[in-house]
Amino acid sequence: SKEQGRNCYLQFDSSMLEHARERMEMEIMLREALERKEFVLHYQPKINMLTGKMSGAEALIRWQKGENNLIYPNAFIQVAEETGLIVQIGELVIREACIRCKEWHDQGLTDLSISVNISASQFHKQDIEELIANILLETGLPPYALELELTESTVMKSPEEARVVLKNLKSLGLKISIDDFGTGFSSLSYLRHFPIDTLKIDKSFIMNLDSDHANAMIAKAVISLAHSLNLKVVAEGVENNEQMQFLDSEQCDYAQGYYVSRPLSWDKINEWIK
Ligand code: C2E
Ligand code: CA
Ligand code: CA
Ligand code: CA
Repeated sequence: SKEQGRNCYLQFDSSMLEHARERMEMEIMLREALERKEFVLHYQPKINMLTGKMSGAEALIRWQKGENNLIYPNAFIQVAEETGLIVQIGELVIREACIRCKEWHDQGLTDLSISVNISASQFHKQDIEELIANILLETGLPPYALELELTESTVMKSPEEARVVLKNLKSLGLKISIDDFGTGFSSLSYLRHFPIDTLKIDKSFIMNLDSDHANAMIAKAVISLAHSLNLKVVAEGVENNEQMQFLDSEQCDYAQGYYVSRPLSWDKINEWIK
């Protein structure tokens, strides 16, 4: 009836308002968090499966909102992305990650690299190459020790533009990794046209390796595809020894996941390294 239709409309309208209000509140809180310097990085070790040694770490952002309130990125990254705040937050992440990795190098740990997640709007901003070049100069981190993690959807949004940006970034001497690999729907042929170094198999395939034969086959195929294209492969989300054994038998290059270590604060990862 007409009555129902109107109710429906009102309901729709108020939930949209509610959503908009929540987003605005989140935006305000994120701005405050930036001012108060409440964003911190945790570091998850990545190990070389051949040597068993740590090869580097992925920097993962957390929002330390009060002493006992650690907020994970899934709760705020999307709003940060939609409001453009990710640009400022992302700059802070790249700088902090490079400063920390340089500390390792200064201690003689010059084999260690640091991986940083780059969101789509960060990647598509005009001066990303310049920003990263400046941070590398400023911090003194050798470019080979920095790896940028981009998702398939970030580079496939406009492949032609992405190709140019990736080429410029690569010319700085850093590494490029395709994150969450296998979850996108893009054709594999683009891999040949992009200057990338690493594929990171999405954790959804790794976590269900044991229970789901298809996932094991996908992981296996990704590893062999990567190697045939001269790329390295990282498996993320490795949670147990069986998964580790499987990946080892398939000659996966690197492993990352709770089985090796959870993401750790800067102090904790340095204890872990010792
Ligand atoms: P991601 O880049 O795919 O990162 C991997 C996520 O899996 C991390 O969640 C990590 O803590 C979690 N993880 C690692 N090992 C395991 C495991 O063995 N099992 C399970 N179940 N999970 C594991 P986290 O830290 O909550 O980050 C979530 C996402 O937020 C990241 O996914 C990334 O897309 C985004 N993110 C994190 N930090 C940043 C950042 O600095 N900038 C941007 N733009 N995005 C970030
Ligand atoms: Ca990542
Ligand atoms: Ca990932
Ligand atoms: Ca992800």
